Amino acid sequence: MDRLQEILAKFGSVTTSEFDPKAWEQFKVDDWNKTIGHRNEEDGYNCPICKNKGTIAKLLDNGNGTYSHCFTDCKCVETRNSIMRMKRSGLKDIIKDYTFDKFIASENWQKAIKEAAMNYAKNPEGWFFIGGQSGCVDADTEYFNGSQWKRIAEYDGGCVLQYDPTVEAATLTSPKRYIAAPSEKLYKISTIRGSIDQVLSADHNFAYITTKGHMQKKPFREVMRMHKENVQGFYGKVETTFSYCGNGIDLTDNEIRLMCAVVADGSFRKNLQLCTINVKKERKKERMRELLSGMDYKEYRKSNGYSTFRFYAPRREKTFTEYWYACNNHQLQIIAEEVFYWDGRIDSKNRHHFFSTDKASADFVQFALSATGRRATIGVDNRKNKPCYVVIASTGNSTVSMASTGGKNKAEITEVIPKDGKQYCFEVETGYLVLRRNGRIFITGNSGKTHLCTAICREFLLSGKKVIYMLWRDEVVRLKAIVNDADEYRELIDKYKTADVLYIDDMFKTGKAPDGSALKITGGDVNVAFEIINYRYNNPSLLTIISSELSEDDLLEIDEATGGRIYERAKAFTIGKSRDRNYRIKKAVTL
Ligand SMILES: [Zn+2]
Repeated sequence: MDRLQEILAKFGSVTTSEFDPKAWEQFKVDDWNKTIGHRNEEDGYNCPICKNKGTIAKLLDNGNGTYSHCFTDCKCVETRNSIMRMKRSGLKDIIKDYTFDKFIASENWQKAIKEAAMNYAKNPEGWFFIGGQSGCVDADTEYFNGSQWKRIAEYDGGCVLQYDPTVEAATLTSPKRYIAAPSEKLYKISTIRGSIDQVLSADHNFAYITTKGHMQKKPFREVMRMHKENVQGFYGKVETTFSYCGNGIDLTDNEIRLMCAVVADGSFRKNLQLCTINVKKERKKERMRELLSGMDYKEYRKSNGYSTFRFYAPRREKTFTEYWYACNNHQLQIIAEEVFYWDGRIDSKNRHHFFSTDKASADFVQFALSATGRRATIGVDNRKNKPCYVVIASTGNSTVSMASTGGKNKAEITEVIPKDGKQYCFEVETGYLVLRRNGRIFITGNSGKTHLCTAICREFLLSGKKVIYMLWRDEVVRLKAIVNDADEYRELIDKYKTADVLYIDDMFKTGKAPDGSALKITGGDVNVAFEIINYRYNNPSLLTIISSELSEDDLLEIDEATGGRIYERAKAFTIGKSRDRNYRIKKAVTL
């Protein structure tokens, strides 16, 4: 109350005989309660009672004719604490962002869950469960497995290329989950120049570079809305390159350059490493002499202007095989530079074109360029009897834009019905994938988990309910670590058992083992789950909201007792499972 001096000055004319200690104290209390606070700036919650100070002053009658005041926490403090806890767990701006309005349901199954979630928020009865996982991209989108690009629909185990925006690098990883889910509708983004070619689901997490140069994710439905509403289109840019570094191959830089010439123009005698290269262009002859200097080679100058070079090649191959993907970044850079001496040309816009009738070589050259920061696309020229692949490396930005340039040509987004009725995704540690479609490489996010559970919690928070948020993967580790300290364990688990509203996010999701594989669900995990679920099952007034990537059948398989209790209490939805299965629990809705 640092305004006391000011206030006293106002009271200066009051004489002691007229001084009313109660009125004076009440004046101070009212003055405090009128003051505007700023806690809403941090958590987005607007409280008319305490005017965002979080405290309320109260008059105290000391009983002996004197008065004083005290401060109590406003009831919004609990709400604010819940919001901040959720924020620390990764749910930022819950009040602002996680509204039902922002969940645009484009498919019938999404509409059904959204409606159920809104009803539940209005009239909470029983529990609410959303399980399963939805996909991101169509069947023709490709992932990179370490040695080739493959259609995501044909995933057969093994590694995928993930992207880490903090270091702008891509690494191979074994995905935590492969998702193939039914889909009624996907959306295709295309640009006139063909720089973007993606087919995505509305709840896919679209990754883009902000105007400040940071990579961020947004649900694609949100991107579509902004793209439509803005005259210029969506401002975010799609990243198409990454840094990749293999273990390195056992060739010298010069040998690598020589192999670029061999792949382009070389031919081999039967079963021999002896290679012949015929070239006519002076610059190519010069380059051959440079690369072969110091080696054993012969040059035969012919009368028709050709020179024939004969030498032992470092590798007997005419294509960039799987072997080459082990190149380290420096070696990839050498290739990305050298290939244009041999099978390339530079156009008027200074773009480098690489030609090959061999798809594997074209794929590798595109990879070498993309992995060293140069945007490269692949096109096919079918005019000749054998298709010719053209890799075009741009000189400019590594990003492509959906927005229009000069008011024209904003990217087009069209609805497509997936041929196989499915959508696909991988879930990886970093949350970002390197994918390719129709020769266009792009960095993109994992599929987005539904934000409806969070929207329900938001409604509860705003109505003054105390919500405890439990991010399963983190909290279960904490609980298991203190399981032998009875007091500490009870204190923590009681918080989850007795919360008025408990939101368990990603139930039974496990962390990663040191070798990169997903950890198995243990007996310890099941015990923690059962203890919480069983307590709440026996106290039906407690509201429980659960999200999980697992379906109802998966949950029952992990633990019949826990799964059974969830399904008995919950209105349950499972995304992405086939519809014609026989479900043990009738109330569960499969979408
Ligand atoms: Zn308040």
